[in-house]
Amino acid sequence: ALSVGHAYKVFGRRPKEAVKRLRNGASRDEVRPFGTAAVIDASFDVNVGEIFVVMGLSGSGKSTLIRMLNGLGETTDGSITVFGHEIVGMSDAELREVRRERMSMVFQHFALFPHRSVLDNAAYGLEVQGVGLEERRTRARSWLERVGLKGWEDSLPGELSGGMQQRVGLARAFAADTEILLMDEAFSALDPLIRREMQELLVELQQELGKTIVFITHDLNEAMFLGDRIAVMRDGRIVQLGTPNDILTDPANDYVAQFVQDVD
Ligand code: ADP
Ligand code: MG
Repeated sequence: ALSVGHAYKVFGRRPKEAVKRLRNGASRDEVRPFGTAAVIDASFDVNVGEIFVVMGLSGSGKSTLIRMLNGLGETTDGSITVFGHEIVGMSDAELREVRRERMSMVFQHFALFPHRSVLDNAAYGLEVQGVGLEERRTRARSWLERVGLKGWEDSLPGELSGGMQQRVGLARAFAADTEILLMDEAFSALDPLIRREMQELLVELQQELGKTIVFITHDLNEAMFLGDRIAVMRDGRIVQLGTPNDILTDPANDYVAQFVQDVD
């Protein structure tokens, strides 16, 4: 579904120079004068219908990477294809098209419209796709119910708790019904019980509807529960990519071993 080849993202004044040096073996610290290397030489494929988890500590580059998959923020170097279409260097108009048809993103901070009702927020993805008012409200309503927000349709986001707002964002992404879902710490504001329910809902979506899901988390237990495969990131690099079992039983290095020590 998605294919990433030697992708780099450097924030700063001279990103291309930083990439050139990183390619020649310079470390992240050595290229610091040219910029912050947030993603370094990432290469992986996400298969259709899998949950691909990106796990790592804060600052390891996870959000930057998932934004690149969505065509947000310019990729400094390398290739990213979505169902065979190269998105690096695409125009904004083309990108909007790809997103509308192929990808929905759930952000860490919910990105809801404060002056629109919960229902219209949940229906927004469908609105962008050009689905008519009645149908999009019907579909959004049923997703709001599935995420446990029946009865809140007419409220404004500000009247909801953080966890409930996050669920509106989920309903929006699920209602849009795109083949790929990109989720950045999408469950982090939820309390443990609802979080587990949402994790189970996500697995259902994958299994029943064959969605392809890229899911970012810094929570190892969540990664282990959800992931068909897990990419572990550290300081901008993917340091291991494997099944949860691979990562538990055969950590690639001390860093990963340390990380998996405290799995439940
Ligand atoms: P994570 O999501 O794993 O916490 P991020 O992708 O947010 O990591 O950040 C990776 C690195 O890139 C960090 O060092 C961060 O400070 C830097 N970074 C992220 N966004 C920007 C930006 N817009 N401008 C400059 N540096 C950024
Ligand atoms: Mg992040």
